[in-house]
Amino acid sequence: MNDCIFCKIISNDIPSYKIYEDEHVIAFLDISQATPGHTLVIPKVHIRDIFELDEHLAAHCFAVATKLAKHIVPLVGATGVNIVNNSHEVAGQAVFHFHAHIVPRFDATNDGYNAHWHNNMHEYNQEQLQTLATTLYVANK
Ligand code: 5GP
Ligand code: ZN
Repeated sequence: MNDCIFCKIISNDIPSYKIYEDEHVIAFLDISQATPGHTLVIPKVHIRDIFELDEHLAAHCFAVATKLAKHIVPLVGATGVNIVNNSHEVAGQAVFHFHAHIVPRFDATNDGYNAHWHNNMHEYNQEQLQTLATTLYVANK
């Protein structure tokens, strides 16, 4: 895709600090470096977001993110990691080429990354939760 900044990184039309490459994915330092070692794993084909990503390529991206997380975290002196994908504007996606963030974590509250969700359990009763689970249930084929 011509106007995609990550496709330009794949084709080396714009520079990046690459730390991994194989047949299907590359990984490079995120320009924001939310924490030291903040890395993006992206497929080499232009895929907009997780809704366009097939499960085999998703599995490979996650396998690479897993391998790199285990590699990066001790090297940068972190103790934890967040693996994050933002898909669609409403989820905070800013670059529309699928990417998994690897964000090494040093401190729970003050290390440059802050993602949390609210506990809204008080808005649900057991019947509503069962209805939700029944609606979302996926049969294992
Ligand atoms: P999103 O919000 O889409 O999940 O994250 C996009 C990420 O891409 C941001 O963390 C941003 O810092 C990173 N980014 C945007 N442009 C570039 C770039 O040209 N090079 C690199 N290495 N990262 C970029
Ligand atoms: Zn692209």
